[in-house]
Amino acid sequence: MAFRTHDTLSFMKQYNYIIIGAGPSGLAFAHTLKQLGETSFLLIEKESVAGGLCRSAQVEGAPLDIGGGHFLDEKRRDVLDLLFSFLPREDWKQYSRISKIKLHGAYVDYPLEANLWQLPIADQLDFLESIAEARFASNASTPQSFEDWIVWHFGKRVSREYMLPYNRKIWSVDLSTLGTDWLYKLPDVSFRQTLQSCLERQPYGKLPAHRTFLYPAHSGFGEVWRRMGESLGDSLILSSAVTSVDIRSLVVNRTFKAKKKIINTIPWPLWPSFTDIPSAIGEQIKKLKWTSIDVDYYSEDLPTNAQWIYDPDENVPHHRLLCRNNFCQGSRGHWTETNSLRAKQQGQWHYRNIFAYPVSTIEKPRAVESISDWAGCHHIVGLGRWGTWAHMNCDVAVSEASDMARRLLETPF
Ligand SMILES: Cc1cc2nc3c(=O)[nH]c(=O)nc-3n(C[C@H](O)[C@H](O)[C@H](O)COP(=O)(O)OP(=O)(O)OC[C@H]3O[C@@H](n4cnc5c(N)ncnc54)[C@H](O)[C@@H]3O)c2cc1C
Repeated sequence: MAFRTHDTLSFMKQYNYIIIGAGPSGLAFAHTLKQLGETSFLLIEKESVAGGLCRSAQVEGAPLDIGGGHFLDEKRRDVLDLLFSFLPREDWKQYSRISKIKLHGAYVDYPLEANLWQLPIADQLDFLESIAEARFASNASTPQSFEDWIVWHFGKRVSREYMLPYNRKIWSVDLSTLGTDWLYKLPDVSFRQTLQSCLERQPYGKLPAHRTFLYPAHSGFGEVWRRMGESLGDSLILSSAVTSVDIRSLVVNRTFKAKKKIINTIPWPLWPSFTDIPSAIGEQIKKLKWTSIDVDYYSEDLPTNAQWIYDPDENVPHHRLLCRNNFCQGSRGHWTETNSLRAKQQGQWHYRNIFAYPVSTIEKPRAVESISDWAGCHHIVGLGRWGTWAHMNCDVAVSEASDMARRLLETPF
């Protein structure tokens, strides 16, 4: 990277904050700055519309969420307040979650461990035995790898027929390389609750997200983010990928200078192609793994009231199927979500999300810590799904971005 003199810098457009990526994280960070009276910022986005993985397209006369099925959790009041200021509450519809698992041709409500009672008695007994054996095994220490954790937590039969094949499909990596730092995403159902649900023929236990959820009543999930982008006016540049960052001078694309911080919400593995990275940090970045997800649309309506269905059958390429007509008013059809490494055929409409899921490998936490320490020394802050490499939902992304904006404004430079 060329070194810039003070004179050259004085001709650049200067902002206190330059934010890279206008997904939910970048948008929430920018709007929180604005709400707190800080207007010296620029948000740079490579796509022509803001929203990142939460964008929607129009397909067969109705919205389709190109990053896969997206539903808004209702837990965080501050997040809802921010989003409702762009798409008012009355423009969202509330749904009770109906999601199913396809097991041996039958459909069971998610999560399996709270809904075993929907299976034939012989299967219920086998699955109960599997979970009981696991929960009451004498070796009690929690395993480090996700694969071992699955068998430790669910026992052999549930693992073999559901958890292992499903996770092999969605991640398409050796499951023994995955860590357990993201297990808060999984349902919390004790053995007692599993047993109780079989006896009383109703679910017990806690779902971490989306027991009920919101989805826009007259648009796709992308609309709220599109509006958030639009309302930033000239503070957002669309269709403009970041292709260079001079980390010494905090100059982006040889045109924009950050006087205080660069906020990075894009995947760190993109950075070595556009900036000088010390080799030790480059090695840490190489440890970050991700999956790509193909979204394929088909116009056929499926005979189910489920909003989505998980499929652990490894002979079927997709791992999840979204019934658009069951949550997007006035629409028809369904789409599949498939790890791109397993994709075999394209639907009537097709989109590949190159960066879809950050993979929580065992070595990820230390790699992210090293990268963040290095970036912090250069006044670069990693934020959101890719800046922190965390498998987070958009409400968490918004909440963390707003917190970060508040913290940075409170910290004297
Ligand atoms: C299949 C799937 C289903 C999901 N379902 C849900 C759900 O139901 N509910 C929920 O709350 N969350 C869901 N999520 C998670 C949600 O998508 C993320 O939490 C959210 O998008 C994170 O926002 P972000 O801004 O951190 O990242 P992103 O949305 O990925 O935004 C990053 C932005 O950076 C831009 N960018 C990349 N490279 C460059 C560059 N060189 N220059 C400039 N810009 C660049 C991208 O175009 C993008 O706009 C789901 C995710 C997936 C993949």
